[in-house]
Amino acid sequence: MNKPVAIHWFRKGLRLHDNPALLSALEKVGESHYELRPVFVLDPWFVKNARVGPNRWRFLIQSLQDLDNNLKKIGSRLFVVKGSPLDVFKKLLKEWNVKKLTFEVDIEPYAKIRDEEIKQLAEKHSVSVITKVSHTIYDLEQVYKANGNKPPLTYVKFQSVVAKFGTPEKALDAPGNLPKPCQTLLLSEDYNVPLLEDLRVDLTGLGKELFPGGESEALIRLNKYMNQQEWVCKFSKPDTSPNSIEPSTTVLSPYLKFGCLSPRLMYHRIHDVIDGRKHTSPPTSLTGQLLWREFYYTCGAYVPNFDKMEGNPICKQIPWKSDPEDKHYLAWKDGKTGYPFIDAIMTQLRTEGWIHHLARHAVACFLTRGDLWVSWELGQQVFEELLLDADWSLNAGNWMWLSASAFFHQYFRVYSPIAFGKKTDKHGDYIKKYLPVLKKFPSEYIYEPWKAPLSVQQKAGCIIGKDYPKRIVDHDIAVKENLAKMKQAYQGHKEEGPENETAKRKKAPSKDTSPKITKFLKKK
Ligand code: FAD
Repeated sequence: MNKPVAIHWFRKGLRLHDNPALLSALEKVGESHYELRPVFVLDPWFVKNARVGPNRWRFLIQSLQDLDNNLKKIGSRLFVVKGSPLDVFKKLLKEWNVKKLTFEVDIEPYAKIRDEEIKQLAEKHSVSVITKVSHTIYDLEQVYKANGNKPPLTYVKFQSVVAKFGTPEKALDAPGNLPKPCQTLLLSEDYNVPLLEDLRVDLTGLGKELFPGGESEALIRLNKYMNQQEWVCKFSKPDTSPNSIEPSTTVLSPYLKFGCLSPRLMYHRIHDVIDGRKHTSPPTSLTGQLLWREFYYTCGAYVPNFDKMEGNPICKQIPWKSDPEDKHYLAWKDGKTGYPFIDAIMTQLRTEGWIHHLARHAVACFLTRGDLWVSWELGQQVFEELLLDADWSLNAGNWMWLSASAFFHQYFRVYSPIAFGKKTDKHGDYIKKYLPVLKKFPSEYIYEPWKAPLSVQQKAGCIIGKDYPKRIVDHDIAVKENLAKMKQAYQGHKEEGPENETAKRKKAPSKDTSPKITKFLKKK
């Protein structure tokens, strides 16, 4: 008789190491040994509609290929099945005689609904479902409960809650070998990982591929950084540079986002390096960075409408402009604001898919409360499309921070699109790399090319307003106007004018969520 089948459903968590749900698919129940079938569901609706740029598609497909290769090395393979998860499982549970289904917990709202549907379907078919937490270091439900059934809304509070849990459990090893699926399925091409061409992903316009997807690459990258003992011990986020030519932080974010890397493994590898040595501490240390991730995940899991302004109880209601056709917004998105530092960052984002955290600060502040007064929700959408690491909770949480809508309230601390970049790159090498049209501009004018006399522009072969845009706003003027608007929004006054209708209808809440922690969070 055919063995009963256990499916491990890969969604995020595209890895073999530290994958407790995969390991539980291998456990026998009573006398039954299962035939394991590792499945990834590719939903055509998602392929067509999701806000995913070509760079992230490439990363995902590479991650699936790597997973398939690694599964083959231990006797199995990946089954990529096309369809909506509900349709796929309706079919597979019956046709494959499935008795057990395992997957990793996903806290994103749409994922929770999807998973609930699948659990109900499984129950109808008497299939046992096992879910495990492994996308985050901590079980966020436990964090929520330990904080009195509410999400901790400050980093300090979050730290104090998780401190009670002690040291996180060690990461689990990858399985040594897996039971072989039946021969016909093992060889069937129907379940192969699709090619980018099959998905009609157009790679034109992308830069050099710097961060290939997959668990193998994630572990190489983790090792590369963990081998630099002094760098790890001294890591302090504010001292890293937004505009270095080589990344000044780990760029492990895309791997953590897709679960090619276990955050628990990263946590323990960092501690293997720093324990017993002098080292930096959270929030600025490398462990501190992982805790930011956990913090935003907890908020994302338990704050309603976390990715929106409307209906989001922690988000200040600010009357931003929210027209997706707004010309300032489009200029920002296309890297054509006339501010080279901002445009270089947006070009790096579009072509390479990763930008430094402080570069994200600069462009997010510029779009919102700094210069353009455009809604953070529109900025969030652009990041969602273009970032390799686009991550629902982290993207929303950080956009709220930068727009001073939640978590951070010192709205008067604005990044200058001129002075900020100069601090770490006086001569504008970074700008010249991403905006070669400015490469012959003298350092004196590289951050403010509109100030260059015409003779200098001619000599540099770049006329401002013709070869490179004139600045779309005057920062000094914009900042003053926006500060006044922020002040008004914070005081709870209604904005008049041609702004966001939703915001106009709502009163800005007067309650500031966490004024006493701003001093601490400034260090972030
Ligand atoms: P490192 O400094 O090497 O940190 C290690 C890991 O810690 C990161 O890979 C990441 O998983 C986590 N981490 C670091 N900083 C943060 C942070 N501020 N918040 C949460 N986790 C953090 N990060 C994403 O992964 N996805 C996003 O969609 C995302 N959107 C952002 C939007 C804005 C407006 C801003 C300001 C930041 C955003 N971040 C996002 C956070 C942060 O910029 C990136 O995680 C970080 O730059 C990734 O680079 P790294 O891996 O080299 O980070």
